Amino acid sequence: MTSFFSRIRSGLAKTAKQIREVLGAAPDTAASDVPAGSPRAPKAFESLDAVEEALIAADVGLPATGRIIDAVRADRQGSIKDRVSREMLRVLRDVPPAPNGAVRPRVILVVGVNGTGKTTTVGKLANLLQTSGQSTMVCAADTFRAAAVEQLAVWAQRAGVDLIRAQSGADPAAVTFDAVTAAKARGRDVVLVDTAGRLHTRTNLMAELDKIRRVVAKVVEGAPHEVLLVLDATVGQNGLVQAREFMAASGANGIVLTKLDGTAKGGVAVAIAHELRLPIRYIGVGEAIDDLVPFDAAAYVDAIFGEK
Ligand code: GDP
Repeated sequence: MTSFFSRIRSGLAKTAKQIREVLGAAPDTAASDVPAGSPRAPKAFESLDAVEEALIAADVGLPATGRIIDAVRADRQGSIKDRVSREMLRVLRDVPPAPNGAVRPRVILVVGVNGTGKTTTVGKLANLLQTSGQSTMVCAADTFRAAAVEQLAVWAQRAGVDLIRAQSGADPAAVTFDAVTAAKARGRDVVLVDTAGRLHTRTNLMAELDKIRRVVAKVVEGAPHEVLLVLDATVGQNGLVQAREFMAASGANGIVLTKLDGTAKGGVAVAIAHELRLPIRYIGVGEAIDDLVPFDAAAYVDAIFGEK
């Protein structure tokens, strides 16, 4: 677990640096709010204006920032930093719990727009689950991108898991049916399905996701058990509109936020939780196979306001 914490911290280093830059280097000592425009020109956690600016700069977004600032004003317990951290944690936790269930195999669809890191995420997640003792199988249902299938084959091999794939252009729902049936027959714990990610404006993509959902429901009770929407943190707030549309069409019930290591906009996790009301399940903090970390809200808040 220690390594997860250090990964979250290093993955959020750019965001933490950005926040520190706005807040300045002053220590977190003030317990009282200094009014805006005061001659002391306070930085750090002395001024709510500075905090607001820092949150917006980190892409927490106006609605979530507003909620945090309002709560900090109403809450008089502890330093401003403590109050900001507390409310940020509340926002992140104010989402439905991740779906849980004992049904095996657990079917997880991974959805999202091409380029967000979907295939990489499937590979990393297969590795994470497999190494944590859950026998995993992956399914290449993005049958229109031969390169994506090849890429997934490489990841599957590295993770030491079976891959079910089909001929290029095959029906994605048929491949998924085969994969879930095989996973059931082989007694696997989890099946990860890498779905196609053409643009959300294509109604055929939505129809395809719907068909995949119906097909897996016939093989395993309650499937798909999780639909993880992959979002690219470097896109920040701009990804939210697209995310909302994808969410509605795919029935996503969890988020994977990728490329946090490459951005100072890591505050977008808070915006996502606040605006999409979905739990962030995993975060991507690099390109290597072990650079996917289960999301931990407390560790995230701690990393954002990290001291160094
Ligand atoms: P897909 O089109 O959504 O399947 O995207 P890919 O899985 O092919 O990933 C697109 C690019 O993003 C690749 O170059 C990945 O290495 C990179 N990528 C994915 N996740 C992360 C991450 O967490 N951090 C960084 N730095 N790069 C990532």
